[in-house]
Amino acid sequence: MASDLPIDFATPQARHSRQAHVVWGSRSVTVGGGAPVRVQSMTNTDTADAIGTAIQVKELALAGSEMVRITVNTPEAAQAVPHIREQLDRMGIDVPLIGDFHYNGHRLLTDFPACAQALSKYRINPGNVGKGSKHDKQFGQMIEAAMRWDKPVRIGVNWGSLDQELLVSLMDQNSQRSEPWDAKQVMYEALVSSAIDSARRAEEMGMPGHQIIPSCKVSGVQDLIAVYRELARRCDYALHLGLTEAGMATRGTVASSAALSILLQEGIGDTIRVSLTPQPGEARTQEVVVASEILQALGLRSFNPSVTACPGCGRTTSSTFQELTQQIDDFMRAQMPVWRERYPGVEKLKVAVMGCIVNGPGESKHADIGISLPGTGEAPAAPVYIDGEKNVTLRGEHIAQEFQVIVENYIEKRFGARHTAEAV
Ligand code: SF4
Repeated sequence: MASDLPIDFATPQARHSRQAHVVWGSRSVTVGGGAPVRVQSMTNTDTADAIGTAIQVKELALAGSEMVRITVNTPEAAQAVPHIREQLDRMGIDVPLIGDFHYNGHRLLTDFPACAQALSKYRINPGNVGKGSKHDKQFGQMIEAAMRWDKPVRIGVNWGSLDQELLVSLMDQNSQRSEPWDAKQVMYEALVSSAIDSARRAEEMGMPGHQIIPSCKVSGVQDLIAVYRELARRCDYALHLGLTEAGMATRGTVASSAALSILLQEGIGDTIRVSLTPQPGEARTQEVVVASEILQALGLRSFNPSVTACPGCGRTTSSTFQELTQQIDDFMRAQMPVWRERYPGVEKLKVAVMGCIVNGPGESKHADIGISLPGTGEAPAAPVYIDGEKNVTLRGEHIAQEFQVIVENYIEKRFGARHTAEAV
């Protein structure tokens, strides 16, 4: 029996977080405080190779990465950073660069001021800024550099490089408990404490809280959910979110999607990165594609027109509809760097490519443009639906090309400057 009450639309929860600004030149990327969840990525080039790194940063930015992190691990890499920045500015790529520092960041940020200035944000890992008495001093030097150059910092804790002295101290405390926590709980506590204690230490030194973005990355899905829920409960800093060492291809994509989706739905996470291991020959930009798709699937952001397609079944014995789906998706993605400027709002377009009459017309009517291809045994005709109405029926060998033209014309008509001017 039907309920008397309507079913509510599921919407992500909101978490109050402070708002950080990651700035380069005239470009300011707002993080947290209700801003859209931002996509980050990281290069895998040798940063000392300024040209190669600038090219990859450009590729990542054009794929939709709103901030790009680069390794800064040696004096040569630090020297290259301002040149990378210059190359990007020359190419018109104003994406902010984040410097990833470990072990020697305090020295590099002091010895190479042009590097410190060219970066828009510093990632500091409290687990490897130095041991013993050097820890606080070297951490402090990095915070001082950030304040001197007015840069935000990510306090980036990772369980692969967790502060071992903190962990041992928490294990000692745990052994005194009448009912000790299990080892995993102590590890969670160490991760969260390391991030929050370091952030508070930076604030005590004078760094504004809105310039601090903690993260606590782990590689297990349930571990990540547990740790970030606790991190979000204990602080109101904007948070960077990611499943570290997610893995390759399907495994990495699914694990990242599962973990990030649950947390994002709870309002946890202000910037995200998908740490995919590229398959041999795979573009580095795949991690940006996956991160964008997660946000788009959750309805949090729109980056590209979406293509709804059925999985196919015994009613589709040819590969025609798979090829058309691929073709239209590739075509629209390739056009997006240009379309984004020319057709504001085009990223919200919904296209459907369906395999047969069972769900084809229905799903096509739900999309802005849909095509229902003929399944096995059906008449060789492909009705096209526009804005819910049947518009034309395509036949013959050039259905794919004709459908692509229909999509292009629709986009020009709906999102083009002429139409927008007329609407105004
Ligand atoms: S729409 Fe048709 S071809 Fe596609 S999965 Fe459903 S029944 Fe199969």
